[in-house]
Amino acid sequence: MQDIKSFTLEELKTEMEKLGEKSFRAKQLYQWMHQKLARSFDEMTNLPLSLREKCSREYEYTSIKEVKMQESDIDGTRKYLFELKDGSLVESVWMKYKHGNSVCISSQVGCRMGCAFCASAIGGLERSLTPSEMLDQVYAVTLLTGERVSNVVVMGTGEPLDNYDNLLRFIRLLTDENGLHISQRNLAVSTCGLVPQMRKMADEQLQITLALSLHASSDEKRRELMPVANKYSIAELMEACRYYFEKTGRRITFEYSLVGGVNDKPEDAQRLAALTKNLNCHVNLIPVNPIKERDFVQSKGTEIASFKNKLEKNGINVTIRREMGRDIDGACGQLRRRQKALQ
Ligand code: SAH
Repeated sequence: MQDIKSFTLEELKTEMEKLGEKSFRAKQLYQWMHQKLARSFDEMTNLPLSLREKCSREYEYTSIKEVKMQESDIDGTRKYLFELKDGSLVESVWMKYKHGNSVCISSQVGCRMGCAFCASAIGGLERSLTPSEMLDQVYAVTLLTGERVSNVVVMGTGEPLDNYDNLLRFIRLLTDENGLHISQRNLAVSTCGLVPQMRKMADEQLQITLALSLHASSDEKRRELMPVANKYSIAELMEACRYYFEKTGRRITFEYSLVGGVNDKPEDAQRLAALTKNLNCHVNLIPVNPIKERDFVQSKGTEIASFKNKLEKNGINVTIRREMGRDIDGACGQLRRRQKALQ
């Protein structure tokens, strides 16, 4: 059965014609799914029962179930563990900022990129998420909190560009004016650096923010932390970033997780400054979140400060990521791992 929530409005019109229904039904259905966030056809009370029955025979309607929620006493951040229809588990995080609410979603169940410091990498990839399963995370969080979501970041479990077509469809549906209509500028996608897909993304001419997980300023060090660095060099990555900026005018974000004694030395900062100097970008330093399966530690406060200082002296735009929800289970993928271990 085809997944009705992953259709664009145009495709849904064609579907309605195929079923012998009037095409205005497509818009009604679409709005029920993507604006009123209906969890089933039964909720679509102004549609004829016969149409609802026909749809439930013809299409799959995805839904996700809250399995667990942890809320931070410090800043109100909530981490949700959701179960998909096939029993897979995904995590999403809800963060409250002054400028609005942000949701961090997962793009895959597990991940095959194998980054050394990341909890999501440990069990490998189970499968990619469909567009509707990515939307469902945003929709469920909206319904559960009762508050509008203004920003979405695809920075949870999974490598979004390893699920390219579904990601693109997700972006189009999420930003569609007949849906939640989230501004493309309020959407960020983080990648470990799949160069061909980054270039393809640039050609789509979207207004979303592309974040690149760099984490090292030499190929040698990057290879120690991220297996994907064996495939693409930092030079190729920088070229792809430059291309993204040229095509879209959107400033690139570089994510750099500081790992104590590994990538936090003055020479690491110096090389990073040289790499990013002539690029229209922003560097986000993230104190690494230690996971129990690995013995990485956070850099010392003084080292973090001098790393930042060095970049600033070189005119680089840099911030240290505010750590949200420290008390509710650090790094991405940990809640899911813990739950799986219990099952
Ligand atoms: N696969 C994508 C998005 C998911 S991870 C990517 O690689 O960008 C989101 C960000 O969190 C990435 O920058 C990732 O490298 C980082 N990350 C993962 N585990 C971390 C940890 N334990 N501490 C700090 N950052 C981590």
